[in-house]
Amino acid sequence: MNHENPTRTETPSIEMRDLDALWFQITGTRCNLTCSHCFISCSPHNDQFGFLPLSTVQHWLQESRKWGVREYYYTGGEPFLHPDMTRILKETLEIGPATVLTNGTVLKESWLHDLKLASLGTYSLEFRVSLDGFSPETNDPIRGPRSFERTMTGIMKLVAFGFLPIITAARVWDDEEESNVIDAFVEMLRQRGYQRPRLKLLPKLKLGAEVQRTHGYREDELVTAAMMKDADPSTFLCSHSRIVTDRGIHVCPLLIDEPDSLMGQTMEEAAKPFELKHGACWTCYQHGAICSNAPSYKIQPPVSSQSQV
Ligand code: SF4
Ligand code: SF4
Repeated sequence: MNHENPTRTETPSIEMRDLDALWFQITGTRCNLTCSHCFISCSPHNDQFGFLPLSTVQHWLQESRKWGVREYYYTGGEPFLHPDMTRILKETLEIGPATVLTNGTVLKESWLHDLKLASLGTYSLEFRVSLDGFSPETNDPIRGPRSFERTMTGIMKLVAFGFLPIITAARVWDDEEESNVIDAFVEMLRQRGYQRPRLKLLPKLKLGAEVQRTHGYREDELVTAAMMKDADPSTFLCSHSRIVTDRGIHVCPLLIDEPDSLMGQTMEEAAKPFELKHGACWTCYQHGAICSNAPSYKIQPPVSSQSQV
């Protein structure tokens, strides 16, 4: 891999080849937690990006059909702070599969009951629940006091309703600890009653609050045209996706804070190529489909529990 500092003229662009996935920044930057690594610095007080009104979501769901969108993603902030979140998910499930990225701390059983019924139709509903450690001691310093137990309560509610949440954890540990961390996650989840956990490990995005917690990208952590010669563009989310925020349409969920990520107010405007000039693009180049639902590891079921969830 070439780590030389690229010049401006070497910056490659990526085309939006199709629009497979449409994302919604449904609660803007408002979250009930204030994680110290949050790449868009969400918190209870950050209103830099606002909630999307139900009517805006409905407009884009309708519009998406003519673009052939095949799946929908809801992120924030914490999506379940949105007063219309269950209605939005139910309406989405009438036209395609949906995934919601949540911290799991505010889930209500009545919502999950409704959503379970809605997910028994043609299209599936996935939950991705963020948890950055397998214990309060490893998670709470990053995600806040009591967040581990609150998130685990949410995870076990989802399991009780028959969902199989994807647990997403940002790699806030050292590389040499990785296999021990994975084992500890799986063991903890099984002990709590989630017998066949799905685990997705995410690279650190050196953006937003993470810059204060550790540091930002180095100058040489950029994608060059030479690097893209051997790359598969389809592994980059921006080649087949866009995200709607209250400001318009942005290139991807990772870069909404960057002024050049706002591509326009219509999908026609937003469908233009995008220059991969950000450090986060280098993370995408290195790690591939970091925004997909694909788990990082295939976890074998324990022999004694193969019929359990
Ligand atoms: S990382 Fe997720 S849960 Fe934490 S503050 Fe950001 S949006 Fe909220
Ligand atoms: S951060 Fe990733 S998804 Fe976003 S524009 Fe860069 S390469 Fe594309």
